[in-house]
Amino acid sequence: MKVSHLPHDPGPAAWDSILPQGPHYPKLEGAQTTDWLIIGAGFAGLAAARRLRQLHPTDIITLLDARAIAEGPVGRNSGFMIDLPHNLVSEDYAGALDKDRAEAGQNRDAISFVAAAAQDYGFTPETFVRSGKVNAAATQKGTRHNHDYAAHLKKMGEAHELLDATQMQGLCGSGYYHSGLYTPGTAMLQPALFAREMASGLAADGVQIFEGSPVTDLSRGASTWTATTPDGRLETPKIILTVNGHVESFGFFRRRLMHIFLYASMTRPLDSSEQRLLGGESVWGFTPADPMGTTVRKINGIGGTRIVIRNRVTWDPSRKAGADAVSEMGRSHSRSFHARFPMLANVEMAYRWGGLLCLSRNGSSAFGEVEPGLYAAGCQNGLGAARGTYSGMMVAELAGGGSSDALAEFAAQPMPSRLPPRPIASLGAKAVLRWGEIKARREL
Ligand SMILES: Cc1cc2nc3c(=O)[nH]c(=O)nc-3n(C[C@H](O)[C@H](O)[C@H](O)COP(=O)(O)OP(=O)(O)OC[C@H]3O[C@@H](n4cnc5c(N)ncnc54)[C@H](O)[C@@H]3O)c2cc1C
Repeated sequence: MKVSHLPHDPGPAAWDSILPQGPHYPKLEGAQTTDWLIIGAGFAGLAAARRLRQLHPTDIITLLDARAIAEGPVGRNSGFMIDLPHNLVSEDYAGALDKDRAEAGQNRDAISFVAAAAQDYGFTPETFVRSGKVNAAATQKGTRHNHDYAAHLKKMGEAHELLDATQMQGLCGSGYYHSGLYTPGTAMLQPALFAREMASGLAADGVQIFEGSPVTDLSRGASTWTATTPDGRLETPKIILTVNGHVESFGFFRRRLMHIFLYASMTRPLDSSEQRLLGGESVWGFTPADPMGTTVRKINGIGGTRIVIRNRVTWDPSRKAGADAVSEMGRSHSRSFHARFPMLANVEMAYRWGGLLCLSRNGSSAFGEVEPGLYAAGCQNGLGAARGTYSGMMVAELAGGGSSDALAEFAAQPMPSRLPPRPIASLGAKAVLRWGEIKARREL
């Protein structure tokens, strides 16, 4: 089984770049054996490793990634570990009531799982903060989305609070927003610190970690699998693939997964006079009321006080996006930033980057035993931090032969539905994404 595409995320992993240098893990070299091999050290892989360690305290568990820890999408996202439904392909994130209730329960289990890891592994305070988040609306249409979503949350029995323009300005310093919808359950991550500190905790718990070790080939023997990397080989009875959309690069869920890139930029640190000009609270996080709009975060921690801005998407079945896409989307980030923060006209972006995300048409994950002894937990559908963590917990239970109501419920989800033939799917998806961005207007 040759791996058809290797990870290729453009631009620096900014969240990691702003930190002092962290620990390095070795490359896989030579021939080795392990009881468990987890391929992919993102949210799902890190969670699978922790859950496996809990279930099998004396087994040899190996976690391996093509990139350095925190360099892949786990260290490139905006750090919203969202508890509530977040259906990116709806107008206002809401879906069917029963499904949304079940999903919120799963997301909260994932957040509690990370809270326990934060305790056990001694996370830095800024790594994981249960602060909630705001859906920010910059138009009347966005405000309508927020009201629709608030009505849905009311039916779900979920706490929420509508904020007016003055409250929004008090929070973020900008008069750009018409309204906001605050929900208290989201945890905010410094995503690179999260990946680093999970990996350090796992290593201290005896999990072997290899980075810079892309798996290029998997082969099955009578009772074991062999994973090959450029410099080594690992033989193991059980493999867990937590490679997100790259599960298709291993030959599974073909023509069922949509590979898109998201893009973000981060400013240089704001000095004290710029912070005064900006005003507002010291940290906050806004997702856009329109799913095609702009996510904005103010952070204040080890890397200084900065603003992070994310918008625009590209459809890339090749699972590869180039530097030209990063600079084109970067121009959009600068426009969105200056429209929101005219008082920071002299503040430039220090980092611009992109990262791969996986969606399926029906919102299902790529989950299950795909061949004997080979398990997958990928395609997190826009909720990678919470759902990635949950799918990692569940796949570890599945592979370990566990049974629980939670696992039965998660494993019962349908397969990701098939995509139309490639030219139609590509043309259709590109048109839908572009139209969504155009419709988002001032929310972008
Ligand atoms: C700019 C941006 C902003 C985002 N914001 C948010 C957000 O705020 N909240 C949220 O929930 N989600 C967000 N996401 C999405 C989120 O980052 C992903 O959904 C999440 O990382 C998926 O988790 P995962 O563990 O399934 O996969 P990943 O984190 O993608 O991890 C998979 C790992 O597998 C490795 N891999 C792949 N192939 C191989 C191979 N052949 N050999 C070895 N290793 C391999 C990759 O290097 C990668 O590290 C964002 C994404 C981007 C790009």
